[in-house]
Amino acid sequence: MDRRTLLKSFVAAALAGCGPSPAETNRLRVVVAGAGIVGASIAYHLARAGASVTVIDRQGPATHASRGTFAWINATWAKQPRHYHALSQDSVTYWRELHQLLNLPVRWGGSLEWFDNDERQALLAEQIAEQVEWGEPARMASASEVAELEPNLSFDPGANAAYSPNDGAVDPVIATQRLLGAAERFGATVSFPCELLDASLSGGRLTSVETSAGSIEADRLVLATGAAPGLPGHIAEIEIPQRSTPGVITLTRPMPRIVNRIVAAPGVHLHQRDDGRVVLGEQEGAPENEAHALRLQARPNDFPDETVALQHGNRVREAAARYFADMAEAEIEAVYIGWRPLPVDGHPVLGPGPVRPDIYLAIMHSGVTLAPIVGQLVARELIEDEAMERLERYRPTRTFERIERY
Ligand SMILES: Cc1cc2nc3c(=O)[nH]c(=O)nc-3n(C[C@H](O)[C@H](O)[C@H](O)COP(=O)(O)OP(=O)(O)OC[C@H]3O[C@@H](n4cnc5c(N)ncnc54)[C@H](O)[C@@H]3O)c2cc1C
Repeated sequence: MDRRTLLKSFVAAALAGCGPSPAETNRLRVVVAGAGIVGASIAYHLARAGASVTVIDRQGPATHASRGTFAWINATWAKQPRHYHALSQDSVTYWRELHQLLNLPVRWGGSLEWFDNDERQALLAEQIAEQVEWGEPARMASASEVAELEPNLSFDPGANAAYSPNDGAVDPVIATQRLLGAAERFGATVSFPCELLDASLSGGRLTSVETSAGSIEADRLVLATGAAPGLPGHIAEIEIPQRSTPGVITLTRPMPRIVNRIVAAPGVHLHQRDDGRVVLGEQEGAPENEAHALRLQARPNDFPDETVALQHGNRVREAAARYFADMAEAEIEAVYIGWRPLPVDGHPVLGPGPVRPDIYLAIMHSGVTLAPIVGQLVARELIEDEAMERLERYRPTRTFERIERY
């Protein structure tokens, strides 16, 4: 058996959660830059497969998009076309396995979604029919069924809603921390604050990664740095066209149970975690005015002060109270800004840079849904050193068409 075949059999066994790791001398040294949920999952799968992994983050685990996210795990109608839907579907399935294996804080139970105009609602019904063709147990639920699923919801008795029973939602901060903790148990090192500054090459191959905390010898670097602008160009010599947009996520203090599932109502999304906290997101985003435009230019990760944060939180809470009366009494615990890492065609960017092939890019929206499958596939590509057909459509070298689905 040659080295590659031997390594592959080790990797397959290790990624299946059993069997030995590759021998110490064969260990691939990988630096994962970015300790959001995507970097954490890649680090976990790499470490589990026997790589020597160092995760670095300039601030800390789950401090950016993976904190300010709605964290809905789904393969619903917006996941287009079929290949991307199938990737999302496989990740939802794999979430169920990781949920058990690593005790991740996921609440399953599905989602309800509807719109407030007839034309869009008719399109939703068509999209749900397509979901069924694609193997999802989704259906349009009548108002009486909606009332059974969500007894506290004010819902038009003449309306209906899309019910997608497979969906779930996760506490993304705890999930990221648990993935990193599991990576550490497989020998990974997690270091923060530690900023990626540069990559050193010799003969075109990566030799070390330069950081604010010093140099780290490495064979591969994974850029899981989310929406951070300019990094792919600077580090990997490839620009990724992104149209990152900000979103506001509001978290309440723990409350008695109000909502059972993910509810995507016109204007507001919400779900309630097992710890009682309700997570609120909005569809349209903050009001567009000059003050906001100016503030957003600097891509803030936090509000300037608590008063401004609460203004945003109250706006979203009021929208939720139109559907769940008890939300009017909710106490706001935190309000986050999240910047979506969003390649312009809405699909993940996964693969080596064309100029610097030892630098692997992993930048995506819907990264909460996709983190498990992406972690598994990227770890296999890196360790087996072989391109996987399944990821070909997501390469950083593709032609990016601007498609707005979000
Ligand atoms: C408002 C909102 C709602 C969303 N809703 C959903 C949803 O319902 N479902 C879903 O699946 N997805 C959703 N998403 C998308 C999802 O949250 C992201 O795709 C995902 O969190 C991206 O994870 P990440 O690890 O790639 O990025 P991030 O979590 O942003 O992590 C990147 C990390 O890189 C670090 N970093 C940056 N530069 C450097 C550097 N130079 N050196 C070291 N570290 C660096 C940062 O500190 C950061 O911790 C939403 C996003 C937003 C903003």
